[in-house]
Amino acid sequence: MDKIQMKTPLVEMDGDEMTRVIWKMIKDTLLTPYIDLKTEYYDLGLENRDATRDQVTVDSAEATKKYGVAVKCATITPNAARVKEYNLHEMWKSPNGTIRAILDGTVFRAPILVKGIVPFLPAWKKPITIARHAYGDVYKNTECTVPAGSRAELVITAPDGTETRELIHQFQGPGVVQGQHNLDGSIASFARTCFRYALDTRQDLWFATKDTISKKYDHRFKDIFQEIFDQDYKDKFQEAGIEYFYTLIDDAVARVVRSEGGFIWACKNYDGDVMSDMVATAFGSLGLMTSVLVSPDGVYEYEAAHGTVTRHYYKWRNGETTSTNSMATLFAWTGALRKRGELDQLPDLCRFAGKLEQAAVQTIEEGVMTGDLIPLSSLENKRKVDTEAFLTEVAKRLEALL
Ligand code: NAP
Ligand code: MG
Repeated sequence: MDKIQMKTPLVEMDGDEMTRVIWKMIKDTLLTPYIDLKTEYYDLGLENRDATRDQVTVDSAEATKKYGVAVKCATITPNAARVKEYNLHEMWKSPNGTIRAILDGTVFRAPILVKGIVPFLPAWKKPITIARHAYGDVYKNTECTVPAGSRAELVITAPDGTETRELIHQFQGPGVVQGQHNLDGSIASFARTCFRYALDTRQDLWFATKDTISKKYDHRFKDIFQEIFDQDYKDKFQEAGIEYFYTLIDDAVARVVRSEGGFIWACKNYDGDVMSDMVATAFGSLGLMTSVLVSPDGVYEYEAAHGTVTRHYYKWRNGETTSTNSMATLFAWTGALRKRGELDQLPDLCRFAGKLEQAAVQTIEEGVMTGDLIPLSSLENKRKVDTEAFLTEVAKRLEALL
């Protein structure tokens, strides 16, 4: 069989530890035998980030803007211990944060559903995708403790020096106070990215805030979403047969729990933090959670939602066998290849991505899985395999499907 040809390179961001090991295995076993893989390679492994003074991270994000599609391996976000372990020049910032800032992107997280691994909420039959606004609110707050007898006010100084003052509270006893902000521009980017992604994946979009209580702040989010929807997306949604739906956050929680899934749930920053962990846990395993960063101008960066699986890596480095789940990393590759195929009109590449996903899911559904899935699977004849053996089993099924 001739190898599938590509037109535009994928931006390939290599990473760290166990996921770096898996990265190479996936390429060698499942991709390069079938695709004439064209990538522009950036090594975001911590050693190279340090050697390039983190320039490589910035370069990889710029390349993603240029080409439109990237696939990223999990990377270490250094802390004090990592600075020592890797003898780093600096405690480099989170690569994901750097890339997200350059692309102005929103992260969409969705679980891979596999028969035999039933969500803790069995009514959920389809994936629920969480989109979390990644700017402002409580994450950029200013807060103080307040002594008894104090008066707290909100003071806005306009460019011409005019002051507007709002009383927050006249404190009788001691207490606390907090200031938060957000930006119309950031909310609008978030809204556009969500509408685009909903069209892209043909799923309904839900958005919820607490605008009945927060009549200016949360209401602003609601209004910006509605204005952009009415102006630019209403007709396109109708054509695609999908819906945009706004409700209150507490109503949304009740509806999500009773739903069968199959939609995107856009959340404000804090709601997204909490709800993405709730949804991920309810669906099962971190090893089955995919993630894609989408920019408002339609640039895509695919990755796994989990980290570099350090504990497994230390075992692997000592020559011990590991049973690390490669599904989310594999789906990062298939997501990126499919998107590249769509943009470059390469139906063979899209078809290959689909077959590879099918082979991977089929492997687990036939009872062959990594250790993390064993306690979650309701299958009777299940078998735990190591990291490499799982990919070999996928390759066997892929051969049959092709
Ligand atoms: P982690 O790598 O996600 O792993 C946490 C634990 O979850 C693992 O020890 C393992 O549990 C389980 N797990 C996660 N992914 C798995 C998989 N694919 N297969 C099997 N089990 C899996 O998170 P972490 O240990 O907190 O962080 C490790 C490093 O990753 C850190 O340096 C952090 O900075 C980085 N990180 C990177 C990203 C990213 O690049 N997007 C995201 C998060 C964290 P058991 O040990 O019980 O088997
Ligand atoms: Mg969290």
